[in-house]
Amino acid sequence: MPEWLALYYREPLELTHGEGRHVWDAEGRRYLDFFGGILTTMTAHALPEVTKAVSEQAGRILHTSTLYLDRHMVELAERIATLSGIPDARVFFTTSGTEANDAALLLATTYRRSNQILAMRNSYHGRSFSTVGITGNAGWSPTSLSPLQTLFVQGGVRDAGPYAALSDAEFTDACVEDLEDMLAQTHGNVAALIAEPVQGVGGFTSAPDGLFAAFREVLDRHGILWISDEVQTGWGRTGEHFWGWQAHAASGPPDMLTFAKGIGNGMSIGGVVARAEVMNCLGANSISTFGGSPVTMAAGLANLNYLLEHDLQGNARRVGGLLIERLRATAARLPVVREVRGRGLMIGIELVAADGSPSPEAASLALEHAREQGLLIGKGGRHGNTLRIAPPLSLNIAEAEEGTAALEAALTQVQNTIGGTEQP
Ligand code: PMP
Repeated sequence: MPEWLALYYREPLELTHGEGRHVWDAEGRRYLDFFGGILTTMTAHALPEVTKAVSEQAGRILHTSTLYLDRHMVELAERIATLSGIPDARVFFTTSGTEANDAALLLATTYRRSNQILAMRNSYHGRSFSTVGITGNAGWSPTSLSPLQTLFVQGGVRDAGPYAALSDAEFTDACVEDLEDMLAQTHGNVAALIAEPVQGVGGFTSAPDGLFAAFREVLDRHGILWISDEVQTGWGRTGEHFWGWQAHAASGPPDMLTFAKGIGNGMSIGGVVARAEVMNCLGANSISTFGGSPVTMAAGLANLNYLLEHDLQGNARRVGGLLIERLRATAARLPVVREVRGRGLMIGIELVAADGSPSPEAASLALEHAREQGLLIGKGGRHGNTLRIAPPLSLNIAEAEEGTAALEAALTQVQNTIGGTEQP
């Protein structure tokens, strides 16, 4: 195994099975899952509908390649095209988010005949050669030798410098001004802007509502495409909206969106949705051997049906709202917590040392203590000091309460270890 494939926890955790919102390790310990394997377990663990679809299809035929028609692929593509909000949409399936963004970059650069890309500071878009080049934090991007010329735009985080004190409206204006200024200094033919509506690896930080609508006006003047990376924000995760871009709806849908993670509920599905004119700009013939394989497509359809039939977006809004409220109440008496932020079931808890500086140590400790409390959570953020909470979207109120109690216990331990005593 490569050294750079990091494992969570001092003692690696081996998960052997799951059910609903819970998982079990090899020693038989049970955990409430507040991370879903980085948002991949979208609906629930061992969802019978998905298990049935997978096993039935696996028993029928495992043959795969886009050379042959597969009914599941066409049906899922049609469903996603309609849900995407993109007019005259086409869907291309991949096996991961990285590959989905790579495909979006191939389309945008070919369509616009330009290798210039706008991306956001603090972004994460994947681990391939092209996608590390549009990832805005060197900590997650191992090389600067990108085939693209990437210009990193302000708008994702505002925790530093002159931006920190600005209101949403002022920050939006400042970012638009910065974008216009940057474009005035380019070769004049930028292919696309790619952005996460809520930065995932970046620590669940949201762009102010409407930022991309304001960007869109500028982009349209230059013919620049807008790609929304919905790998973490798609499928109702943010509660208020089905896609993250809809918080910027005044601008209408993006030209392309990319998805992955949750739609397969653990099966490897990614993809890109684009206007037909953009999708069909590639002149050469192509195939994908594994993208859209029948087993993953059957899983995706069953999972999507479950999500929509049970209104899990509405559940994310209700249960997520309650969770944020409870966590804010806990945070108010723990100085180690600088901020609880988020939307729906995508909640970030930022931790700081006693002097207010980012504390990745506190985040690592919180993960260990949460594990002892029987709770799995994630971490991330620009300084590695943000806890990431993103449970399966079927989380119920009792489980939200159970998780809050475990987190409160874990954070109190962290507070006592690193940062003196709690506030009265
Ligand atoms: N885009 C975003 C926003 C992501 O969070 C990730 C994965 N963390 C990716 C792309 C890459 O997806 P994958 O790991 O499936 O390649």
